Amino acid sequence: MSPIRQQNVMAAQWSPGASIGLRDLTNSDNQIFGENVFSPAVQRQRLPKDVYKRLSQTLAKGEPLDTTLADAVALAMKEWALEKGATHYSHVFQPLTGLTAEKHDSFYGPTGEGTALASFSGKELIQAEPDASSFPNGGIRATFEARGYTAWDPTSPAFILENPNGALLCIPTAFVSWTGEALDSKIPLLRSMDALSKAAIRALRLFGNDSVARIFTTVGPEQEYFLIDEQYYFERPDLIITGRTLFGAKPPKGQELDDHYFGSIPERVLAFMLELEEECAKLGIPIKTRHNEVAPSQYEIAPIFENSNVGADHQQLTMQLIQNVARRYGLVALLHEKPFAGLNGSGKHNNWSMGTDEGENLMEPGETPGENWQFLFFCTAVIKAVARHAGLLRASVASAGQDHRLGANEAPPAIISIFLGAELQKVFDALEKGRAAKSTPQSFLGLGTPVLPALPMHGGDRNRTSPFAFTGNKFEFRALGANQSLGLPNTVLNTIVAEAVDELSDELEAALAKRGAKLETALASILQQAYSENKAVIFNGDGYSEKWHKEAAKRGLKNLPSTPEALPELISDVSIALFTRYGVLNQRELESRYEVFAEQYVTKLNIESETTAGIARTQILPAAVRYLTELSAAEMGTLAAELRAKIDEFVFAITKLEEANLEENHPKSEDVLDHAVYFRDTVIPAMTDVRTVGDELEKLVADDLWPLPKYSEILFIK
Ligand code: ADP
Ligand code: MG
Repeated sequence: MSPIRQQNVMAAQWSPGASIGLRDLTNSDNQIFGENVFSPAVQRQRLPKDVYKRLSQTLAKGEPLDTTLADAVALAMKEWALEKGATHYSHVFQPLTGLTAEKHDSFYGPTGEGTALASFSGKELIQAEPDASSFPNGGIRATFEARGYTAWDPTSPAFILENPNGALLCIPTAFVSWTGEALDSKIPLLRSMDALSKAAIRALRLFGNDSVARIFTTVGPEQEYFLIDEQYYFERPDLIITGRTLFGAKPPKGQELDDHYFGSIPERVLAFMLELEEECAKLGIPIKTRHNEVAPSQYEIAPIFENSNVGADHQQLTMQLIQNVARRYGLVALLHEKPFAGLNGSGKHNNWSMGTDEGENLMEPGETPGENWQFLFFCTAVIKAVARHAGLLRASVASAGQDHRLGANEAPPAIISIFLGAELQKVFDALEKGRAAKSTPQSFLGLGTPVLPALPMHGGDRNRTSPFAFTGNKFEFRALGANQSLGLPNTVLNTIVAEAVDELSDELEAALAKRGAKLETALASILQQAYSENKAVIFNGDGYSEKWHKEAAKRGLKNLPSTPEALPELISDVSIALFTRYGVLNQRELESRYEVFAEQYVTKLNIESETTAGIARTQILPAAVRYLTELSAAEMGTLAAELRAKIDEFVFAITKLEEANLEENHPKSEDVLDHAVYFRDTVIPAMTDVRTVGDELEKLVADDLWPLPKYSEILFIK
């Protein structure tokens, strides 16, 4: 590496390790948990009694907010925030980029007497108008004024974000166009939670439950990420610009030894994790587990589940904190779905369930699931929902980064199927045959001891290859990408399950209306039929195998390996009817998402392809030519000829890629999907060709001339 770049790299460092060993360990998580959250507990202390009561009712029951409360809440929130050292407040929202957006406003305004006074009104709490015109909207605002508003979401608590030089009050908000259309991922999620709550309450009433007032969907995401030394990060323009390596030959050692997974965590990384968890704790994010993942330098962090809205907000924050805290340790966190070729990518398992306000988990099978009709009812609804809307679920996790995983044999495949596990499978098999679904208690107590009540839950082995698996008392949607917001996938899940619950309720209601009908008899026949009709989606075998791909095709299951194939599912007639019926997304809101996601796919690939061409021509090619000069000067004829041939191949591949990148060669069509298909079919293969030859050159060119840090350095120096 040239001395100048080396200097730049050194300058960019933040004295790594400075904070290691300096933490006050007496400050345990218990004491700091939620310290920076305007939580219900803080609200109870600081709000007038009646205001608190009315506000908490809003939170508990999902009732409409009485806006007259806002002034009182704003006053209390401001005082609390000022005491915490905040000088500014911000409406944070989640535009369709999948990222979090914020604009900071000062609490302080001039008094006219040369001093400043802190003020924050209910109006400022409830609504703000960010300069919204540059957020993606897929045409929603195009025909109107480019106006967008953020609106306070009282169901997700406000919090203080600390910075070494100040603090900021963050208010979770929804982002809407002035015509009331959702421009973010929070609004549809909230709407879908309402839809499911209504449907599930209706069903529970049929089961004789008259007391439940609200059902919450829950989410517990398992976030995977890579951590690398920032020195290598800054030396790789591909990582800086695209978040993934566009070049890099396979090192002699990859993940073959399986020596990293659940291995002991390196000291610097553990120090980072402890500080990350402390930061999460302050913000009330209940982190539960941490461990090494499969690939070298890959890790995972998972919280205890929360209601979907709060869980999704916390997940956005967690991703932000992972990246911020990493820098304090001279590390950079990579959240890209596929930072390194030849190694596992990073996903985010989305554990999902529904729970009542009385604390009951509707996906809890209990000791005898075969006799638990309520559980079987909701479980059948999930199967039915996933079977019907598998394509939509697939579309909800589609992106350029995801195509490296879902289309390839490492993550759950692009075919959405359900894994029930041996125990539950037995129950459904029995149900289908019309037999009383008897449970087999012994197999629920595998270790033969009653002191392990959790053991029965794991009825069956794990199946890491399944995109949608029942895991004890929840379903795990495993196809999310590491970089993704939880918003859309959970919106889809909640809505499709609401629909299936309603349809089963319709049938149940009709059956019960008949004279002398018994609940269990009615359920047995309704669930039997629903299961039989939808069981094609159930697959307990190896999801990676070629055999399954053939079998799935025979069963008529959708296989959508790439984003351009998946996205149209968002705007299929079936999807539009579903979302419209439940008031979750109207047709324009769906079309806008389709367009935004397709544009993002094109834009990301365009950036990748130009970066590939740039690195190839200005970094790798010059290094190869320099080495060729040395070989020729040393009269190393054979080696020089070999290298020259590779260089010629490289130049040819670069030229082809540069041609594909030319604006004038892009499709002229107005339809963004045509552009997406062009990038998938023409640009990606051209990029792959350049990379293939580039990686071969890495193995030929002298190491001291090679301009990029190699995989073995990046992944193994910790
Ligand atoms: P597993 O080992 O099967 O992955 P864990 O107990 O480690 O299960 O949980 C993984 C994730 O699932 C955690 O984030 C956890 O909070 C979440 N989870 C557990 N129960 C639920 C639930 N009822 N709803 C949503 N997520 C849940
Ligand atoms: Mg899991």
